[in-house]
Parts: sequence; structure tokens; C-alpha cells
Amino acid sequence: MITRRNLIKNLSAVPLLGGLAGTASILPFTEAAAAAPARDYFAELGVRTFINAAGTYTAMTGSLMLPEVLAAIQYAAKDFVMLDEIQDKAGQRIAKLVRSEYAVVTSGAFSAITLGLTGVLSGMDEKKAALLPHLAGTGLKTEVIMQKAHDIPYAHALKNTGVKVIQVESREGLEKSINDQTAMLFFVNANNAEGPVKVEDFIKIAHAHNLPAMIDCAADVPPVENLWRFTEMGYDMVCFSGGKGIRGPQSAGLLLGKEKYLKAARLSMPPRGNTIGRGMKVNKEEVLGMMVALEYYLQRDHVKEWKLWEGQIDLISKAAASVPGVKTETVVPETAANHIPTLRISWDAEKVPVTATALREKLRNGSPSIEVADAPHGNKYGISITTWMMAPGQEKIVAARLKEALSHLS
Ligand SMILES: *Cc1c(COP(=O)(O)O)cnc(C)c1O
Repeated sequence: MITRRNLIKNLSAVPLLGGLAGTASILPFTEAAAAAPARDYFAELGVRTFINAAGTYTAMTGSLMLPEVLAAIQYAAKDFVMLDEIQDKAGQRIAKLVRSEYAVVTSGAFSAITLGLTGVLSGMDEKKAALLPHLAGTGLKTEVIMQKAHDIPYAHALKNTGVKVIQVESREGLEKSINDQTAMLFFVNANNAEGPVKVEDFIKIAHAHNLPAMIDCAADVPPVENLWRFTEMGYDMVCFSGGKGIRGPQSAGLLLGKEKYLKAARLSMPPRGNTIGRGMKVNKEEVLGMMVALEYYLQRDHVKEWKLWEGQIDLISKAAASVPGVKTETVVPETAANHIPTLRISWDAEKVPVTATALREKLRNGSPSIEVADAPHGNKYGISITTWMMAPGQEKIVAARLKEALSHLS
């Protein structure tokens, strides 16, 4: 309903639509946001919001963008540009920032995997790109090799191109599986510890056989250095999520690496339509938002941020451990993924007779609602907490509510 008050509010948002565009873009973000109509859309829809004490989960909508990133997205929404031109120019800046030869903004790490592989398969030939995913009889290569220990669900991204994924269990098996149908070798950085062939050897083997190699590093910042570590190691293509630690748009990602493959990957991307990548669209808003999120991520004081997380974890840990029967431990997971201070809380079921499922339900149903993560190894009497997706101050709420829930006071 348009009341007079809302109308005035809406009018103050008009600069965003044209006319006084210059004025809107110089407004500090908070004022620009204040000028926007104040509708509580989630409340209107009855959608629950919550404190995210779990981490960067797609099901929980990933991460929150910084005001500067939101301002860039709002800025991008106000003008038309050519999609290829913004990808070219933002890509150049991104490449420079992370010391890569070339860079493309994709709709996530998953699509970076699919699209990077299309570039390998098609080369700079649009007609070949249009053949995917039906490779049989085309003369295009048909196989990608990876280690069985790296078989994560996201490896499905490779299959979307039509290739067959060959899984190997040893270095010997890897070298034996390479044949004239092999298009690429694929490595999952988070699983480095599990596979027999480690990250440095893997790229050497690929290059010894004149094959390109791709690495999935989706959730692998921090540390920030990972943004250039693997291109510098020689990986031809490196895939990151935009909406995890970098806190860019959740539907964005980065494909970094060799110009030769990434330019070819662009042939399978919008605006080109007769391709398997047409549905993996990112528009100017995500491209610019991704670039700006990366800029701010690189500028951030990572040491200070780490200390902030440790302090928050410590506060929650002490509150939980003050309940008899509850044990806490702060760890930094050894895997490359989600390499951040993580609190593991577990309890003696006799002293604290509540399952993790029931505890999570309690936290979820309270006000404000709180989401935490599962404990590792299917422990029914434990949970995990990270604070990197929380707004500063929320750790106090989580600490108090957790203590209350573990003490059966709620
Ligand atoms: C999250 C993740 C992906 C998918 O990333 P999106 O950016 O959500 O597409 C792929 N691989 C790994 C290892 C991941 O953790």
C-alpha cells in the first residue's frame, strides 16, 4: 500500500533510478540504505533469519556481503554495460590482484569447474563448444582423471560437460590411466591429505604428460595466499567460491589461471546461448560485486580478524564449558577448507541429557534463532561452532543461549 510516508521514502530512493544518479553514488552506504523503502521482506514472507554460528553453508545462504560490496552491486544495477566488456575489464583487475594470467567471474566454484573444463575441451572453437555435452563421435577428448579420495559431490561439475571421470587410487594408477582421450587432471585441494598423490606432485605429473590440471580450492581462504599459491605452483585452472571466505555474492565464483583455457571457457558462457554454460549466468552486479569483495578481502587485516575470531570462540567456549559435563576444544581444521578457529563442544549424555539434534532445535527455535554445525564423526552429543560468519557482538548472544540450552534452562 502506498501511504504518503512510504511515497516520500520511495521518492528519496528515486536517484537510484536515474535523474540524480550522481548523488546516489556518492552517498555513504548507510545513508543510501536508509533512503531505501523500509520493508521487512523476510518478515512479510515469514522467512526465518538467524545468527549463523555454523559457517559458510549453501543451505544457510553462504556468507554476508560487506556494505561496500552491496554498494558496488547497487551501483552496477543502475547502468547498462556490455556483459563481455565488464567480464574483460573486471577480469583483468582480478587477475592482477591475485597474480593470475587471466580471470573470469563464474556463478560459483561449481560452475568454474564445469566452465574451465569446457575451455579445455572446445579450445577457441564455438562450434565445438556447442557440441557439449555429447562428446561421442565428435573427436573431442572424453576423460578427466582424479583421485578416488577426492571424489566429493562437487566433482559432478566435471560430468556436466559430458566427460567420463576416471578415478585412480595410486600414482601408478594415475599415470597408467592417462591416454589419448584424457582432457585434464582434476585435484581437490581440501582432500590433499587423503589422496596418495599430493598437490605439488599432481601438477608435475600432469605437465610431464602435457595435460592441463585444475584444482578446486572453493573453500580454501583463509589463508589469503591461497589465492595465488596454486597458479604459482603451475595449476592451469584454479576455482574459488565467491560467497565463502571472500564474502562476495553467493552466486559468484572465480576461475583463475591460463588465458588459453579461460578465454576458451568464455565461449561456453553467456551471452553466448548455444552452450552448456548458458544457465550459469553472472550479470554485471555479480561480476562487480565479486571484484569489490576480492579487493576488500585482500585489504583486510587478516591477523586482526583471526584474533577477533579467537576471542569470540574463547568467550563461547568458556560459557559452554562452565556447564558440568560439557567439554570444549578449539581447533583449526587441518584440511585446506574452512581453515579457521572452530569450537568443538561435546558433552557427557548422562550429565547433559540432550542430543545434538534436540539442542540445535532449541537454539533454532529461540529468539534470536541460532544455527550451529554438526560435530565431526557423527557424534550425537556434540556440535561445532565458527564465528567468522557472525556479526561482532553476536558471540555474546550465542554464548549465553548455548549455556542456557546445555543447562536445560530453556
Ligand atoms: C563449496 C564448494 C564447491 C561449490 O562452490 P560454489 O561456489 O557453491 O559453487 C565446490 N567444491 C568445494 C570443495 C566446495 O567446498
